[in-house]
Amino acid sequence: MTARGRFAPSPTGELHVGALRTALLAWLQIRRLGGRFVLRVEDLDPDRSKQPLAEGQLRSLREIGLDWDEGPVYQSARTALYDEAVAALEAKGLVYPCFCSRAEIARASSAPHGPADDGPRYPGTCRALSAAERRERAAAGRRPALRFRVREGVVDFADGILGPIAQDVQATVGDFVVRRMDGAYAYQLAAVVDDDAMGMTHVLRGADLALSTPRQLLIYEALGRPAPRFFHAPLVRGPDGGKLSKRHGPVGVETLRSLGVPPALVVSELARLCGLPERPSPRELIDGFDLSRLPGEEIRWSPEPLLQRARGSSSAR
Ligand code: GLU
Repeated sequence: MTARGRFAPSPTGELHVGALRTALLAWLQIRRLGGRFVLRVEDLDPDRSKQPLAEGQLRSLREIGLDWDEGPVYQSARTALYDEAVAALEAKGLVYPCFCSRAEIARASSAPHGPADDGPRYPGTCRALSAAERRERAAAGRRPALRFRVREGVVDFADGILGPIAQDVQATVGDFVVRRMDGAYAYQLAAVVDDDAMGMTHVLRGADLALSTPRQLLIYEALGRPAPRFFHAPLVRGPDGGKLSKRHGPVGVETLRSLGVPPALVVSELARLCGLPERPSPRELIDGFDLSRLPGEEIRWSPEPLLQRARGSSSAR
């Protein structure tokens, strides 16, 4: 079977060194296996996704020498597929309308917080509303989100980098949103539907998404579809341990280039951050690429040494 992998950025900003490193790893994994690499633009959030940002991200990837065999595929053009999947879940009674506002959930939730960034656990307020109660809430002008009915028990999987991961999704996250109140499909649903429809065999992404995977596995299970293998790469963080971002200085390839750092130097830096020999082009890293040698810990990174190196090499010329 041909290996199929992807990189799936959300077009909400410039791709930083951490995201580019994830892209490089996913690309190397598939290139090493002689598989097909797909680029997917996850532009479902109408408030945060911007077309020029998507174009900038594609440019950054090309700039560092990554290519793809299929795509870019835009999720915003694929809502019919998500409609279909939700209809299938609806037919099985596995989704239900939820009329709660964020504030109501925060007030009603006894568990302080679900996994990082996910907010409080959903306490199940709308899980068992009667048809009459639903009509009443809809008549009051409330537009419902759609939530997935999470089963009891632990969901586990063998991560190809992090090892065994287990999560009791109902106890930590609760029933989660698959379609928002404004009608936008949620990442958890769209990623599963697309990874399945695109025939992905390998999903390599940042470790910040490791605790999305149990939710996604529940959707695969509900749709009766086989799941791909998952690989979550430990994150590259800023020097202060926070999520890498602009506030840590120039962290994107285009910004770095504007400051005199050539893309080839960025690639050597990415290779170093993957525990690989420092080479200026991804192609030179395919031979002998072995994911098991990836450093298992998070890395703290600052652009300063790279800027200094670029200064050094330009003054040496
Ligand atoms: N779009 C997600 C992000 O940019 C990644 C999704 C995935 O790889 O599954 O963080």
